[in-house]
Amino acid sequence: MTTLLLTLFAFAFGWLLWTLGEYVLHRFAMHELHGKGIMSREHLLHHVRADWHLAYTNVLSWIGVGLVGGLIWTPLFWYLTGSLAVGLGVAAGWAFGYGVYEYCHAQAHLRGPSGPYSRWLRVHHFHHHFGHPMSNHGVSVPWWDRVFGTLERPERVRVPRRLAMGWLLDDDGELRPEWAHDYELVGSATADERTAALDKARAFASVAPAD
Ligand SMILES: [Zn+2]
Ligand SMILES: [Zn+2]
Repeated sequence: MTTLLLTLFAFAFGWLLWTLGEYVLHRFAMHELHGKGIMSREHLLHHVRADWHLAYTNVLSWIGVGLVGGLIWTPLFWYLTGSLAVGLGVAAGWAFGYGVYEYCHAQAHLRGPSGPYSRWLRVHHFHHHFGHPMSNHGVSVPWWDRVFGTLERPERVRVPRRLAMGWLLDDDGELRPEWAHDYELVGSATADERTAALDKARAFASVAPAD
């Protein structure tokens, strides 16, 4: 096999490896730790607010992903196959998979779906947020949830109004009719202090927010 083909294979394998990393990190290093450590805490705060914005933690994540690729995957697969190109290909696929995940996750929170994949991804991910945070740990792909028995497909996602994504709502704060097939709004739009405290406690326990 030519080196180019081998490197392409390695890239695809690295991407696949990322999707497993996405599942394992999200489930075990974020939800199962209930806020212990910066990664878990920051992720559960993401559940408290259910929004997305650029923060210094995005830079930390990129550094972490780069270090794992450069210091673990590259030497490991170089050693296993005797090819530096394979080692670098796996690391590049791993980092690319992370980039795809970051992009898709941010878009899901910021913009409505534009096709079957982005529609599926949103229903899958917002069920994780609002229906059952211990299901659907994969974000960009469903297969590891299927393998580990945590895949759930809700008929409709029940979204608390106070946490609703902007793209879901019209100017009056009501559900846009084009999304009514996949989503419904529950509860009130404003959160008092008690609700805010409860949202935080439930997010850190990996329990869905109350209506
Ligand atoms: Zn999210
Ligand atoms: Zn989560």
